[in-house]
Amino acid sequence: MSRWSSIAIFLVVIAATILWFAFSSLTMDQRRSSEDLNIEYFSTPAALNLEQVKSRPASDWRVLKGDRGSFGYTDDRYWLKFNIDSADYDRILYIAYPLLDSIHVFWQADSGLIEYQLGDKQPYFERPILISDFAIPVPGQLQGQIYIEVASSSSMRMPVALMSESDFFDAKLQRRLIEGLYFGLLFCMTVYNLFGFLASREPEFGIYSLYTIFFGGLMLSLDGLGFRYLWPDWLYLQDKGIPIFGSLTLLMAALFAYQLLRLKNYRRTLARGLFIMAGLALISLAIGAFSSYQIGIHALLALAVPGCLYLLIIGVYLWRKGLVYARMFTIAWGALLLSVMVNSLGYLGIIDSMFIQRHAIMLGSALEILLLSWVLAVRYNEQRRERLIAQQRYNEELEIRVEERTFELEITLKELQEVNNELEQRNLEDPLTGLNNRRYFNQQLEREYRRSRRNQKPMCLIMVDIDRFKKVNDTYGHGVGDDILQAVSKELREQARRPTDAVCRYGGEEFALILAETNLTHGVAFAEKLVAHVRQCMFSTRDGQHSITISAGVAAIDNTRDHSVDDLFTAADSALYKAKREGRDQVVTTSIEE
Ligand code: GH3
Ligand code: MG
Ligand code: MG
Repeated sequence: MSRWSSIAIFLVVIAATILWFAFSSLTMDQRRSSEDLNIEYFSTPAALNLEQVKSRPASDWRVLKGDRGSFGYTDDRYWLKFNIDSADYDRILYIAYPLLDSIHVFWQADSGLIEYQLGDKQPYFERPILISDFAIPVPGQLQGQIYIEVASSSSMRMPVALMSESDFFDAKLQRRLIEGLYFGLLFCMTVYNLFGFLASREPEFGIYSLYTIFFGGLMLSLDGLGFRYLWPDWLYLQDKGIPIFGSLTLLMAALFAYQLLRLKNYRRTLARGLFIMAGLALISLAIGAFSSYQIGIHALLALAVPGCLYLLIIGVYLWRKGLVYARMFTIAWGALLLSVMVNSLGYLGIIDSMFIQRHAIMLGSALEILLLSWVLAVRYNEQRRERLIAQQRYNEELEIRVEERTFELEITLKELQEVNNELEQRNLEDPLTGLNNRRYFNQQLEREYRRSRRNQKPMCLIMVDIDRFKKVNDTYGHGVGDDILQAVSKELREQARRPTDAVCRYGGEEFALILAETNLTHGVAFAEKLVAHVRQCMFSTRDGQHSITISAGVAAIDNTRDHSVDDLFTAADSALYKAKREGRDQVVTTSIEE
């Protein structure tokens, strides 16, 4: 558990302890001031008048043990009887149970009969003292016999006490303080979670906010405070408030658990149980709203106890499954369940302590509401962290994928570059002979020309043509012609050994040799050597050995004069033609014409 969790639990425990001490001091106060009333009672299904009650034999009356007379749900009317002595201070007759339907007080004083009609079937402002439960002023000097007739569709409890005015208001003040604290807490939780909902749009915050509203409504109804402050003239809601708010609370509790615990991810059956619980809560709501209080409250209680138990079971189940916030959820519901059980047992008349009952549910629910709100915050944080981690993981994956793609792209680019290079190479190569082609020749001639001018060096161009090649083709076929072309190309390439020499197939059976840094004299010598070499070559073809001769035209520029590259080419070309004209198998040179 984290440090913050421990601190939060510590704070909650301290708050609960303070509340508990406040409650128990209040309980003691009221106990002390109502010890010796010696109340006697009897119950009857019949409606009796005061005279009939007075005339009943003493054996009918039984002593009310303890001062919290609690009889569960009953249709009987209860009659109480006790004496009040005079005192030298004013007092309050106090019945600390706000849900009684009808309380008819007959006070046989010396001065005559005084009657009070109380109960929550009457508008709030008709009460002699305006408090959420019931009280009658008892002036100090007055004494006499008091009869009280009580009938109620809520559970029958008659916590009657006679207190001095100062004790009474002191107790009331303390109680108001506790109530203020409690409802203040509920109000804060409602608003806080509503803001949480508006800010995060997470439905569980909204559901929880509604839950605290309805739970607050339930507690206000139970306490009579709603009737006092919020709906004093609305007798319907005072009557049905508990079943209506109770059902709505259970509905929200089911939805909240479903949402908070993401149950559909774990066990579908458990989730279905929650839906059934929500459905039953709706039915209970309808019963509470449209049938009598007694039926409504029984329907609600029949759902509340198993419902809370069910939520607890789900909490424990998920806790054991290792869900972080299921533990706090379970503790929260455990606290409320305990208080609801105590409360229900009290209403059914099994536990005879109004104060433990009433304060237990306040304490339990305060704890529960605080813890659940904390769970919500923890869960929200958890979710955010998960989302962050997921985002991070996604980013990392994305990065890796981008890297992979980049790598693939680089490889593809490299391959493309290679193919491109090869294509370029082929583009400049003659497929038959493997020599540089005409395109290359043009580029290279231009390049070499510029370089020679830049460096002020001579350059030489030799144009070569095979003699009477047409005849070879015509006589032996094009296959043999090709063989000879290839063989001659090979010889030319081997003869031109310098790295700067470029041997090109100019077209057909014509070749061009570009010789860098070579003057005319050396160029002519080289051409002579070429022609002589080919003359004595025997070329093997598919049709046996053949010999041929070549003619060459040589031209050169020495950069002493301003010649263009075209001048050079024209000169070499015309020299070649001259060599043809003059009998072939020879070298001719022309000077470049001015
Ligand atoms: P000359 O001595 O005047 O140069 O006579 P020639 O027959 O060599 O000249 P001409 O220009 O009349 O003929 C060139 C021949 O070269 C024509 C063509 O059949 C042949 N030729 C051109 N290119 C190729 C080729 O790639 N393969 C083959 N087998 N023959 C080719
Ligand atoms: Mg020729
Ligand atoms: Mg030719």
